[in-house]
Amino acid sequence: MGILTVKGVNKRFGGLQALGDVNLDVAENTCHAIIGPNGAGKSTLLNVLVGKLIPDSGSVVFDGQSVLGRQPHEINQMGISRVFQTPEIFADLTVMENMLIPCFAKRDGAFRMHAIQSVRHEGDMIAKAEEMLDEVGMLDKREMTASSMSRGDKRRLEMAMCLVQEPRLLLLDEPTAGMARADTENTIELLKTIRREKGITMAIIEHDMNVVFSLAERITVLAQGTPLVEDIPDNIKGHPKVREAYLGE
Ligand code: ADP
Ligand code: MG
Repeated sequence: MGILTVKGVNKRFGGLQALGDVNLDVAENTCHAIIGPNGAGKSTLLNVLVGKLIPDSGSVVFDGQSVLGRQPHEINQMGISRVFQTPEIFADLTVMENMLIPCFAKRDGAFRMHAIQSVRHEGDMIAKAEEMLDEVGMLDKREMTASSMSRGDKRRLEMAMCLVQEPRLLLLDEPTAGMARADTENTIELLKTIRREKGITMAIIEHDMNVVFSLAERITVLAQGTPLVEDIPDNIKGHPKVREAYLGE
C-alpha cells in the first residue's frame, strides 16, 4: 500500500459525474502523474485530496490516516501541500512575505489567509524561507512585490511556498501551464532535484507529455472521471485506450 490510497471515490456536481469510482495508489518517494483530457476530473480529484471538496463516497487514506472530513489546513498539517493550476500567491505581498505565510500556516495549523497576521511578526522562519528561495533561484527577488513578477516567477514562488512546508506529499496541478520552454525545463530540473534531495512523494497533473515522461514513474490516465489505465510511462505512450481518450477530446 502506498503513502496515498484512494478507493472508490465518487463525486457528482448535479447531473455530472465528475469522479466515478476512482482508485489510486501513490507509492512513497515516487512521482505519479495523472493525465487525461480537459474535464476528465483531474482538478476535482486534487480538490478531494486536499479537503476542498468532499466526495459523495469512497475513501482517501494518507499515511494510514483518513483524509476525509478534515479541513484543508488539517490535511496540510498532515504533510500534503499543493501547487494550484492558477498560482495562489498574495499579489500585494513581497516574495519573502509570501514565503512566510505557509510557514506560519503549517506551524499554527491555520488557513493561509489567517497566517497573514503572523507574517508581520516573522521570527525564525526567515532563514528557512531564504534557503528555499535560494534553492529555486529567487533569493535576489525576495523584496519584490509578487504582482510585479513574471508568470514563471509566480509559479516558482508558489512551488517554493509549498516546498518550504517540507511536505511528504506534493500535489501539482499543471505546474508548467503557460510557461515558456526554458521555464518548463527549469521546473523539471527543480522537481528532479527536490525529489533527489528531499525524497518528497509527488502526484502531478500535467498536459505537457515531456514533463510527464521526464518525471513520472507511474501514470494514471483519467477520462470522464474514471481511471482508464495505470502503468509505467513506456506502456502508456502508445496505449490504444489513451490515444482514444485524447483523440476523442
Ligand atoms: P480537469 O482538471 O481534468 O480538466 P475538472 O476536475 O476541473 O477537470 O472538471 C471535471 C468536470 O467537473 C468538468 O466537466 C467540470 O466542468 C466539472 N466541475 C468541476 N468543478 C465543478 C464545480 N465546482 N461545479 C460544477 N461542475 C464542476
Ligand atoms: Mg484541471
